[in-house]
Amino acid sequence: MEAIKGIGVSSGIAIGRAVLLAETDGRTAFRTIPPAEVKSEISRMERSLADAKEQIVQIRNKMALRGGDEAARIFDFHIELLADQSLIGPIRNDITREFVVAEYAVSENFRKLADRFLEMGDSIFAQKAADVIDLERRLLSRLVGRTSERLATLEGPVIVIAHELTPSQTVELHRAHIVAFATDGGGLTGHTSILARALELPAVVGCGKVTTDIEDGDMVIVDGDGGVVIVRPDDGLLARYQLLAREAQHRQRVLRSDANQPSVTRDGMPISLLGNIEFPDEITTVLANGGMGVGLYRTEFLYLMSDLPPTEEDQLESYRKAIDLAAGRPLVIRTLDLGADKYTQEHLAEPERNPFLGLRSIRFCLANQEMFKTQLRALLRASAHGPIKIMLPLVTHVMELRQTRMILNDLSEELDEAGIPFDRNIPMGIMVETPAAALMARAFAHEARFFSIGTNDLIQYTLAVDRGNERVAGLYNAANPAVLALIKSVARTARHVGIDVSICGEIAGQPLFTPLLVGMGVRTLSMSPGQIPAVKRVVRGLEIEHCESLARRVGSFDSDRQVLLCLRDELRRIDPEALAGSEGG
Ligand code: PEP
Ligand code: MG
Repeated sequence: MEAIKGIGVSSGIAIGRAVLLAETDGRTAFRTIPPAEVKSEISRMERSLADAKEQIVQIRNKMALRGGDEAARIFDFHIELLADQSLIGPIRNDITREFVVAEYAVSENFRKLADRFLEMGDSIFAQKAADVIDLERRLLSRLVGRTSERLATLEGPVIVIAHELTPSQTVELHRAHIVAFATDGGGLTGHTSILARALELPAVVGCGKVTTDIEDGDMVIVDGDGGVVIVRPDDGLLARYQLLAREAQHRQRVLRSDANQPSVTRDGMPISLLGNIEFPDEITTVLANGGMGVGLYRTEFLYLMSDLPPTEEDQLESYRKAIDLAAGRPLVIRTLDLGADKYTQEHLAEPERNPFLGLRSIRFCLANQEMFKTQLRALLRASAHGPIKIMLPLVTHVMELRQTRMILNDLSEELDEAGIPFDRNIPMGIMVETPAAALMARAFAHEARFFSIGTNDLIQYTLAVDRGNERVAGLYNAANPAVLALIKSVARTARHVGIDVSICGEIAGQPLFTPLLVGMGVRTLSMSPGQIPAVKRVVRGLEIEHCESLARRVGSFDSDRQVLLCLRDELRRIDPEALAGSEGG
């Protein structure tokens, strides 16, 4: 038996058999196979080549149909590579003679070829290197797909173990028999963790060594509240966790049964609780959990789920679906927040050295205006079907807001000329998720109709701590007085100027912070749907005056520790059960 400590990022306890997924994001674990499996491993590799070829031919044909002959030619190069024996031969040899797993053989040989192109040191060859890496990723994802097909043949619930999962891989894990996952890398507010919560899959990330210490088929317990993965538990521990799992499910059922209670404090102040979603369907879950609408719709997942960028019609369809499901309730749609960890750098000819400080979010959109216009047109057209608000991510400069407005005005004129209906008064707001935006909130308040504080990024940029890096996870702390001072000041500015302010970072779904945020004057919180019932229960136990005095007290502290102790005392007083839940997650 072994207990591996990690970061509990999605609540719940799950027990099942481990399935190791080979890595597809830059690092592929070296693993060997028994000689008897060589034949099946070769045919697994060959099937992945054939599948990838079929997929690429389809993409190439679609591109050619849209008149993108140059883009279609890129895919011809991919197809040639798949048949190139100087590349495929060594992969076959590595499996047959060295007994290495197909994923490793593919990755090694593709990387070698990419390095040879890069050494040639000219931009055409750098592009070819990027193509090779792109193809490597496609093959690896086919192979991982095959691995995940094995899941269907295993008995009972399955726990996925991986070095790291990309957001789109995480979404693919959403199958009935996959009950949890654990990864070596990752942090609390990385996008994989956010998706785990959206999919209600218990998860522990940042474990460092789950892929080395766990083998396929091992019995594993994932405790998403305690942040621990237990490998090969003995019978006593297994029975204890089975009991804990039943108790946790019961608590969740009780919370859900109260979900439709009004979200008001004891002294009658309404607090609006909204959901964060990645896909329109999730609105049903938001409402079932007692949410009153959507405070953050992360539209980039439409891009991440497909090899081809979604068309204007694809986007329009998603937004219309969201509008139908929201049925007049608040629906804040955020424009594409691509870049950093939401657009793996391998897609780029020249990966950025520091993508979190690079061309991401609104910067990426303004630098790729055709793509941005496609989304804005879809949003404008969707607005004819029901109320929406548009929100811009990672704004650091008022010019970004003005430029977006100019593009929107041009598009509105085009739609007018074409006689296409749209809402002429869509409120446009910004995410406040950089210290620059927080410090200049007053200037932004003159140009934006609302603010939504994105604490996930605000914490990482204020504290200079990568939100997805397990090595600095201990420094990533929402209770840091510098972060809290920024939130307080943005809330105060918004109140003075008279614009709405909400919080949509993960802190909004943590009951520990609810009394403090309400005390700072925040009246709208947007969170993963599953977190709404627990936060609502805390809200119903609050008194505004008391929260305000708590906020004043916390404002005088200069260490995270003091803040956390004080918030824990407060929550223990209001809702001890919520405190037990927030200790782990
Ligand atoms: C945030 O940064 O707090 C946020 C809500 O946006 P995302 O997690 O998508 O970066
Ligand atoms: Mg963000």
